[in-house]
Amino acid sequence: MFVSHVKPDGDTLGAGLALGLALKSLGKRVGYFQQDAVPRNLRFLPDTEFVARAVPADLPKDTLWVFGDMSDFSRAGEYLPQIARENMLNIDHHLGNSKFGFLNYILETEASTGTCVLRILKAMNVPVTPDIATCILTTIMTDTGAFMHTNTTADVLRISAEMMERGADKPLITDWIFANKRFAATKLVANAVAAARLEEDGRYCWTVVDEAMLKACNADGEDTEEIVQHLRAVEGVEAAALFKDFDGAVRVSLRSSGKVNVQAAAATLGGGGHFMASGLTYPGDLDAAIVGVRAALKAEGL
Ligand code: AMP
Ligand code: MN
Ligand code: MN
Repeated sequence: MFVSHVKPDGDTLGAGLALGLALKSLGKRVGYFQQDAVPRNLRFLPDTEFVARAVPADLPKDTLWVFGDMSDFSRAGEYLPQIARENMLNIDHHLGNSKFGFLNYILETEASTGTCVLRILKAMNVPVTPDIATCILTTIMTDTGAFMHTNTTADVLRISAEMMERGADKPLITDWIFANKRFAATKLVANAVAAARLEEDGRYCWTVVDEAMLKACNADGEDTEEIVQHLRAVEGVEAAALFKDFDGAVRVSLRSSGKVNVQAAAATLGGGGHFMASGLTYPGDLDAAIVGVRAALKAEGL
């Protein structure tokens, strides 16, 4: 069984699907567990029709549970059955992974969990089919922001080229993930950016999306994805924050321009991620989150 993190992205899902497709080609029985529904923009990926919150009733006791792209197993959500640690394989590239598995394959320098999976597939000598290549390229394009972020190394570009040579459908990925936005999503970006504030002498840009704003734009949580990158891209900004105050919690997305370690800032508040991109669920209301996140960022040099 492959397990994706809550609010799944193209990395957690693409990595699981790539490994699942490969193991199926070896005749293994494969399932995919994910607490939340497959986001609209990832439904082009092969095998997503088999991704569900449900767990098959007839799973053997020695079923291997593979957790992908999560720094801690709590990121899988609340609907997993009890799983013995010896049945857990943890594949990840986050900083500060809690190594919750019996086996932990953690490569912090990899651009995506998908490229960690690719290393495993190569070691196993499993053929990388066009479908698998599309999944792996999706993980890379998701976590590099379509080759924009600083984790886009020469190696990442070489692997991406190799995935294209093996049949990865890059135009399909670009279309589904980075184009063809719902009008509601574009309206939401406009509203959230219009409400943004630039503080700390221009080094900190932040905004809030709440229930009312979602409703006004006819948007939902999936439409919030690209907002924070607009804040981070403002000249002089060292750190950007998006406060998502809906669905009964305050979730925060943090981005850095290279100076502030937002993973460390998020970790002090119970979250995690990477140096340049992290997230957390704030244990308090919006006002407290705004104060707490600023303090955590300042402690990291903002
Ligand atoms: P996001 O802002 O949701 O795109 O997340 C950015 C990065 O932070 C990703 O690598 C996530 O896996 C990580 N992240 C987001 N939320 C959390 C959380 N509550 N706990 C740990 N890591 C998180
Ligand atoms: Mn992820
Ligand atoms: Mn990732």
